Amino acid sequence: MHSLSVPEPHLFDQDRLMHAVMDNASNGLIIMNPYSRCVYMNPAAGQIIGLTLDEVKTLDKPLHDIVHHTTPEGGPYPIEDCPNYIALRQNKRYQGEDIFVRPDGTFYPVSLSATRIMEDGQLLGTVVEIRDITEEKRSQQALIESEERYRRLVNLSPDAIAVHAGGKLVFINEAGARLMGASSADELIGQPLMQFVHPDYRELVIERIKKISVTNKPTEMVEEKFVRLDGGIIDMEVISIPSSDKGAFAIQVVARDITARKQAEAAIKESEERLRFMAESMPQKVFTAKPDGSVDYLNPQWFDYTGLPLTDIQDWGWKTFIHPDDLEENIARWKHSIDTGEPFNFENRFRRHDGEYRWHISRAHAMHDNQGNIIKWFGSNTDIHDLKLGMQREHRLELQNSHLAEQRKQLITLGKAKDEFISLASHQLRTPATGVKQYLGMVLEGIAGDTAEQQLPYLKQAYESNERQIKIINDLLRVASIDAGKVILHKQRADLVALIKGIIAEQASKFSERQQKVLFEPTPRTIFAVVDAGNMRMVLENIIDNASKYTPTGKAIEVTIGKAKGGVCIRVKDEGVGIAQEDIEKVFQKFTRVDNPLSVQVGGSGLGLYWAEKIIRLHGGTIEIDSEEGVGSTFSVHIPA
Ligand code: ADP
Repeated sequence: MHSLSVPEPHLFDQDRLMHAVMDNASNGLIIMNPYSRCVYMNPAAGQIIGLTLDEVKTLDKPLHDIVHHTTPEGGPYPIEDCPNYIALRQNKRYQGEDIFVRPDGTFYPVSLSATRIMEDGQLLGTVVEIRDITEEKRSQQALIESEERYRRLVNLSPDAIAVHAGGKLVFINEAGARLMGASSADELIGQPLMQFVHPDYRELVIERIKKISVTNKPTEMVEEKFVRLDGGIIDMEVISIPSSDKGAFAIQVVARDITARKQAEAAIKESEERLRFMAESMPQKVFTAKPDGSVDYLNPQWFDYTGLPLTDIQDWGWKTFIHPDDLEENIARWKHSIDTGEPFNFENRFRRHDGEYRWHISRAHAMHDNQGNIIKWFGSNTDIHDLKLGMQREHRLELQNSHLAEQRKQLITLGKAKDEFISLASHQLRTPATGVKQYLGMVLEGIAGDTAEQQLPYLKQAYESNERQIKIINDLLRVASIDAGKVILHKQRADLVALIKGIIAEQASKFSERQQKVLFEPTPRTIFAVVDAGNMRMVLENIIDNASKYTPTGKAIEVTIGKAKGGVCIRVKDEGVGIAQEDIEKVFQKFTRVDNPLSVQVGGSGLGLYWAEKIIRLHGGTIEIDSEEGVGSTFSVHIPA
């Protein structure tokens, strides 16, 4: 074994040893005489102040004037304030920091200690130790800045940041304090952590604290519920990081309030449920489809209708139940909508589970995002089968109605043409018929000379036939005139008693021919009414003539007149064949003759009552019939006063 031989200290020259130590020291060492002149400087000091000892000596100034003359602010640095000077004069050891100035004028911080040297009660000078602390200061500053940055970051963070140690809160930032409902962090610091954790989550939190203390690693993000000072509950997203507090194990917690997000999520969930409920409770078949058109949601109504499992219908499976005649166009339109985003609208037939195809109206609309991209299609399908068939039926009915209306129009035109023909023909017939009547009358009266006895019955027969013909022509003309709206009443006060008496007198020969008794015994001698006397006379003639015509030989006819219902009532009662109830309405219709035992024998046009009723109606009155078959009829004519 070799032993290293170390020389004993006393073997060194004490001075040389001292110099070696000082020359190799990393701190600057300066020795000054009582006049503050530098007498010694080690190399480290020379490096710090930027001058060699010789240079300093040449300057021949107190060191203060070399390294201390100006403050960084630019003002003079009085020697009285110089720590070295103070140390020299006041026998005070100075230790602190100061700022020196280099020959080039730049400033630098130094750590400085100055002590005066005494020997035998005599002041020898001072020894000054300096160290350039520029780097230290810089890193100190950097630390301060970084701490400040961190502090600001933590305090201004919108997330809650807290540190807990030993089960108590030791730090919480402003956001955290606000979130927990405190007016400042002081209110919370020192409080037990568990006070702020919702009871449902306490066990979980304890578990996590244990885990971090073992693993010394941050936890994954979790959702927890916290309790605020006011008892309110908030949802938080929390991450926990191992940390330390005054050297002890602590946990830093970064938490974000997700109450609003949770509420929004709950609201979305609720609204989704509501929509789903709606979709499932409505009668329509609804679906949603992806932007590419494949169906991704179907309500259960599809299954009820098609009998197919929903999985068979989704994507493009729905094509199977579309009527083959509608499928091609459906797909073309759907693809067009998918390409353009235009709404889909189409009527087509869907096959029901029992095989019946029913008409549906299919509609779909695209939902877009903020950029205008399609994100979803929403579609509904409504069964319009019954409606559509109803509409088709309605359309058919409409067609039929328009046919009928057309036919009616034609009938009216025909009716008019017929009326015109009747009117024209009657006029043309009347003149020759009246001529025949005149000439026959003249022959019968002997104006044309004597007529053989055996010719007379024929001539009379011809005369009566001609009479009937004229009556029919007159009836036709009257009806044509009333139908054309050409009848204008010329009303004036007339005595109806006299009018009826006149009619009866005129028709007396007919009554006696039929051996009928006509009773007319009005109590008042006169009854007046405002009427068109000519037309009123023809109406009553017709009714009285009918009473006679439709009453067998030997029976009686009774005519009465009296005031009634604010007017006058004329009644013509016979003991004739009567009219069946169901025929009563018909007798007022044009060309209507109701068959009865006398109708063939007496003949007629079926126009008399039609015309009479219209004339009475023009007077504002009515004609009523009370009749019993085989017993007789009563015709009541009411005329308002
Ligand atoms: P007509 O020229 O045929 O008598 P009317 O218009 O005067 O035409 O009468 C219509 C029909 O009403 C008659 O054909 C007859 O059948 C019936 N009728 C009218 N008056 C009487 C009556 N007093 N008794 C029974 N039937 C009558």
